Amino acid sequence: MQYDVVVIGSGPSGRRAAVQASKFGRSVLVIEKGRRVGGVSVHTGTIPSKTLRETVLNLTGWRERGFYGLAYRVKRDIEAGDLMARLHKTLEHEVETLDHQFARNRVHVLRGLATFLDPHRIEVQMEADETRVIEASRVVIAVGTLPLRPPHIPFNGETVVDSDELVELKSVPRSLTVVGAGVIGVEYATIFSALDVRVTLVEPRTSFLDFIDRELVDDFVHQLRDRGLSFRLGSKVQSIQFENGQPVAILDGGRRVRSEMLLFAAGRVGATDRLNLAAAGLAADERGRLAVDPKTFQTAVPHIYATGDVIGFPSLASMSMEQGRIAACHACDNPLPAAPSFFPYGIYSVPEISTVGMSEEEVRKAGTPYECGIARFRETSRGHIMGINGGLLKMIFAIETRCLLGVHIVGEGATELVHIGQAVLNLGGTLDYFIDNTFNYPTLAEAYKIAALDAWNRMTPRREPEADVPAVLPETAELTGDAIEG
Ligand SMILES: Cc1cc2nc3c(=O)[nH]c(=O)nc-3n(C[C@H](O)[C@H](O)[C@H](O)COP(=O)(O)OP(=O)(O)OC[C@H]3O[C@@H](n4cnc5c(N)ncnc54)[C@H](O)[C@@H]3O)c2cc1C
Repeated sequence: MQYDVVVIGSGPSGRRAAVQASKFGRSVLVIEKGRRVGGVSVHTGTIPSKTLRETVLNLTGWRERGFYGLAYRVKRDIEAGDLMARLHKTLEHEVETLDHQFARNRVHVLRGLATFLDPHRIEVQMEADETRVIEASRVVIAVGTLPLRPPHIPFNGETVVDSDELVELKSVPRSLTVVGAGVIGVEYATIFSALDVRVTLVEPRTSFLDFIDRELVDDFVHQLRDRGLSFRLGSKVQSIQFENGQPVAILDGGRRVRSEMLLFAAGRVGATDRLNLAAAGLAADERGRLAVDPKTFQTAVPHIYATGDVIGFPSLASMSMEQGRIAACHACDNPLPAAPSFFPYGIYSVPEISTVGMSEEEVRKAGTPYECGIARFRETSRGHIMGINGGLLKMIFAIETRCLLGVHIVGEGATELVHIGQAVLNLGGTLDYFIDNTFNYPTLAEAYKIAALDAWNRMTPRREPEADVPAVLPETAELTGDAIEG
């Protein structure tokens, strides 16, 4: 069998690459070793963790507690079955949508493990020992990652689990130790804490989420400590023992953390070990990752591309999709212009965090004179209506050019709200965009205007306030008024 483009892996980047190549009229095959298409994103990562989060927030009545008090619950005794029911339904919808998307775009899918025979030939080991050899003009490696499972951690799938196993939760533990305060560890630690599970977060470094603006992390940590989440920062797990069937993490210095369940979420490795990369003329690094040209996503072998988590940072489904699209465009002789400079980072913890552009620490390091503006959600009318007590939006502006440099949000809706800042940032917008534009009221997005006004108070005025009012304003205002009243 011969194809123009063969994609290995059906996660976000493989899927996007395949559909894009097919839209250019190429014959496309996706090889997927999993039982169903979708990758880590659909089956064990993004979608399961976000569905779990949504279920927890709904069933615990988390969003309503600002009004009805800390004891408010939608459901009193939340069991694993309650959490899993929504998950299974969501996954069904996701897989069905993907299958349909592949069928609609005439992307062929072959279930089996892909292994290179040479740079253009791939062997697929299917069920019942059947194998097939595929020839490809172009190849996209989109095999993603697997959880890191160090030998000194006694994984047993029940009380000591990795993040893939956690989505098969059989009962809700009363206490949980999370090892690793990266994005995955922090998300699960805070989701379980919202479920009233006693959580301890263990991290060998003395700080965490170091790529996020410090002021935001400080606010976040304050909120988490306030609700009883314990931190063991600067502590490495030496070993794990069992006492009465419960895992006890022994930290360096001898400190012990006992809990009903332990989640080990300290890293992931590229899933390249079974690809036989050497036959293709490629080699992965010590964490199984492939190096690529950051603009085209070509590997050292020009007709073989690699996209998504297998190339490392930022390891986001959102960016993986975009990388797949860019690689497919290049592979189909339709290279794209350079991607926008800034992409958003979303952390679906409780509360959620989202950020785009430079942090205050980065701006300071770059030596750019700057000013910050901050709005707290509790200052907005929408926040009052929703009973929100926490959450803030921070913007950083260059004093000289008034350009927006970064937006950092912690709190309800952060991962949605950030896109306003992203648009202004990537279009080179300034403080004045937020001052001059009208925002819907009451919304949390109004926090942008409040934060901008906060910064504006400390920055030299650009001009007379009326100077830029568009000439059409009175007419537009009249029309809008008519529309609303009529
Ligand atoms: C718990 C968790 C939460 C996350 N939350 C978010 C989030 O909120 N937002 C976000 O943007 N990102 C999130 N991510 C990251 C996101 O899941 C990944 O960035 C994304 O799945 C990467 O996509 P991918 O296409 O590179 O690979 P994957 O989704 O990992 O898919 C790779 C596919 O390749 C297949 N494969 C591997 N080897 C072979 C082979 N030899 N032959 C055939 N098939 C093969 C695998 O079976 C798999 O289906 C999260 C990840 C985890 C683990």
